Amino acid sequence: MAKILSVLYPDPVGGYPPAYARDEIPTITGYPGGQTTPTPEAIDFTPGELLGCVSGELGLRRFLEDRGHTYVVTSDKEGPDSVLERELPDTDVVISQPFWPAYLTAERIGRAPRLKMAVTAGIGSDHVDLPSAIAHGMTVAEVTFSNSISVSEHAVMQILTLVHDFVPAHDWVTTKQGWNIADSVSRAYDLEGMQVGVLGSGRIGQAVLRRLKPFAVTLHYCDVHRLPSDVEEELGLTWHPDVRSLASVVDVLSIHTPLHPQTQNLFDDELLGAMKRGAYIVNTARALIVDRDAVVRALNSGQLAGYAGDVWYPQPPPPDHPWRTMPHEAMTPHVSGSTLSAQARYSAGVREILECWFDGRPIRSEYLIVDGGGLAGTGARSYTVAG
Ligand code: NDP
Repeated sequence: MAKILSVLYPDPVGGYPPAYARDEIPTITGYPGGQTTPTPEAIDFTPGELLGCVSGELGLRRFLEDRGHTYVVTSDKEGPDSVLERELPDTDVVISQPFWPAYLTAERIGRAPRLKMAVTAGIGSDHVDLPSAIAHGMTVAEVTFSNSISVSEHAVMQILTLVHDFVPAHDWVTTKQGWNIADSVSRAYDLEGMQVGVLGSGRIGQAVLRRLKPFAVTLHYCDVHRLPSDVEEELGLTWHPDVRSLASVVDVLSIHTPLHPQTQNLFDDELLGAMKRGAYIVNTARALIVDRDAVVRALNSGQLAGYAGDVWYPQPPPPDHPWRTMPHEAMTPHVSGSTLSAQARYSAGVREILECWFDGRPIRSEYLIVDGGGLAGTGARSYTVAG
């Protein structure tokens, strides 16, 4: 029998379960391009419930315990006395989330001789040291596409929030109890007519492009692999072979690549300096793709007109993280991929992965990042490992 350890974000401060705003969520059965939503044999939760926090348990307890496995759920993940550190040595499977990542470093993997699989309840497995996972013979899997549309909607929201300068205007009528029209509009623009680009035109990047098309903008993208020409034509896309070419022409840039050696620290002072003065960046991919302090400098100097996103490093960030207080930001905590709608899909996807794992059936290739001693499935296409 196996021990499964889920590291999930803490419960709401008001207690669990929360009072839900709605009674149902739409039923989604497929994604653009034909991939189906997760198909576990059963689920033990009602879609729309808060599943990603500790008491939500990803809806897995009954399933795992009925099969005789041990299921430990915690949010306590940092430091030598944390539950994660204590449980790791005899854990077989770690489930974690990008929103509250259990950083599976080389040292931690080295202290977990039984660890066979790391599952991401969501998308993005950069919190796992992939070379160590490969060397350890592990499988790394994530629920590809489960929250891609959620993130794309959030990115479009943050683009509009920045360009229209929503946050200060909101503050004028709420916190400041004022009605300062001139102050509220002195940095507000329309998106219409702007040059807008995505770095990474995978599942999320393409969904962002499709959602932006009706805003009458000119669309650009940069990706390792070029999109089919009919898609380029349909969306009126200009492809850029490298990030500098993209960054230098756009008014708005939205980042949608995984974090891996080729994308780490890409947006440094030099690249930010090559952008148009007054450009906006939205980053819902991973914080380490940008240089934290270079972003702050660019906002302070006016080189960037705004920066928004939901990804930070580390997570959670310390109280004095400079992005909490920098100007012209529209930051959220890492929430875009954890809407209640997304939670139903990623929880069902984790269950599908576990069912396959326990029953010796192949895990869908699109869910695989590492398997069989190397990058596999989606991992082989979208990730690189150093060395
Ligand atoms: P996909 O794998 O579908 O797309 C990623 C795209 O990035 C691929 O098209 C890939 O290229 C491209 N890419 C990789 N490296 C580079 C590079 N060096 N330069 C240009 N393009 C590159 O992933 P998703 O769209 O589903 O997700 C993207 C990322 O978003 C995830 O890895 C994760 O980090 C983040 N994410 C954030 C969430 C949140 O809650 N904020 C939730 C979900 C994901 P190709 O495949 O053509 O080689």
